[in-house]
Amino acid sequence: MRTRLTVSATAAAAALFLAVPASAAPIGQAGAPGIGDRYYPTYGNGGYDVSHYDIRLTYDPATDHLEGTTTLLAAATQDLSRFDLDFALDVREVLVNGRPAAFAATGEQELEITPARPLAKGATATVVVRYSGTPSKVSRYGFTGWLRTPDGGIAANEPESAWWWFPSNDHPSDKATFDVSVLVPDGTQAISNGVLTSQVSRLGWTRYSYRENKPQATYLATLAVGRFDVVSDTTAGGLPVLTAYSKDLGDNAGAARASVERTGELVDWLSGYLGPYPFSSVGGYVPNVTTGYALETQSQVFYSPRQFARGANTGVVVHELAHQWYGDSVSLSRWSDIWLNEGFARYTQWLWSEHEGEGTAQELADYTYAAYSADDPFWTVLPGDPGPDRQFDTAVYERGALTVQALRNAVGDEAFFRILKGWPAEHRYGNATIEQFRAYAERISGKPLGALLDTWLFTPAKPAAPTHPVSAAGPRPSASAPAGELREPLSWKKLQESNSVHEHRPSGR
Ligand SMILES: [Zn+2]
Repeated sequence: MRTRLTVSATAAAAALFLAVPASAAPIGQAGAPGIGDRYYPTYGNGGYDVSHYDIRLTYDPATDHLEGTTTLLAAATQDLSRFDLDFALDVREVLVNGRPAAFAATGEQELEITPARPLAKGATATVVVRYSGTPSKVSRYGFTGWLRTPDGGIAANEPESAWWWFPSNDHPSDKATFDVSVLVPDGTQAISNGVLTSQVSRLGWTRYSYRENKPQATYLATLAVGRFDVVSDTTAGGLPVLTAYSKDLGDNAGAARASVERTGELVDWLSGYLGPYPFSSVGGYVPNVTTGYALETQSQVFYSPRQFARGANTGVVVHELAHQWYGDSVSLSRWSDIWLNEGFARYTQWLWSEHEGEGTAQELADYTYAAYSADDPFWTVLPGDPGPDRQFDTAVYERGALTVQALRNAVGDEAFFRILKGWPAEHRYGNATIEQFRAYAERISGKPLGALLDTWLFTPAKPAAPTHPVSAAGPRPSASAPAGELREPLSWKKLQESNSVHEHRPSGR
């Protein structure tokens, strides 16, 4: 399913040669069509680095028709005769440094661009792409990342989301700042990441402009157009909060608000464990989609209404807000490093359970460990390298959080909480790998952790019963007891329910 189709590339290449004058001897070489991610070889591209996206759109919710102009600021990291962007809509025109460039759509989502003048290593490029399309009708690798709703459309998916609304270097290792400006009919709202900087109505249309001024991975960029009730506020600490709810949430409306309206409070609570909140604003929106997942879109979290079908769900809000530190500010360098996102986001849900008096992190770890017998396939998924098809497997979350608890018990609470808070500061607004995390945790704790992380993240078997901290009252009960002999933590069922909503992709994949 992920095999890239190369049949059309030959025809496209022929068209390109016609567009380039024969006298223009190629200088440099073509940038690679992928950035080098083992899980997704064609995602992202080689040869340049983007620093900023300016995305200017007009969207008609009645027809799902989207018109756009995206301007990217990039720097060449090698001599480039040609480079790719990742994109799936129809491109009308491409300019590089003000000159028309030849372009061709190839493979599933490659947009090959040949600038009129090659780019020398270190040169900056301003790339303008004009395009249009009906995102819900555009399928890549057999699915559509765009979510069509009765009153608009939503871009929120992982890892594939950007292709349906803006051209990009689509990999978390190339982060950039974003300005997103969307023109929609009056009465319809547009939501994106960061701060709403202006809202102007004229002749029946309203333009919403947002700015995310901190580096953001492309999959964390979000766009929502629809009919929303929008709430603007600031936290006690002065952080702007923007929350939005589809007018069409039915019976889930109350529970959605009772959860997402606690965003500011939960950011403050998380800051106690994870350090200062990294972004200039925070928020969350609940559109009228039929999907089940939530996604940590940067500073503006996406929630499916189904998250609130059984009442308020502060756990999912904690999880997605924890990602603002673990995933968004510190982003993974490769998709195989997903444990750095999900293991820690799930662990903060355990800390929240403890705070709410519904079971301590240790009790949840004991119960989780006992819940899966040694021959359960759960233990064959490696949280440290799950593979693209199991990237969002339950084990990445649950065994991932078990790993965090094992680390805590190995280094002790004092060092553990210094690591938990120090890591997001160490790599703020950047990228990191699991190996870098190991080195950091070893430096802070003064303990070798290679064997522990190997056992918990990279071994396809149930680890021996984890060691527990020894309290004054003696050792805790053995975790090797069957689940039936341990008392089920009050938060257990809620956490289990949240396992069924990790599917980050539309159904059918
Ligand atoms: Zn998550």
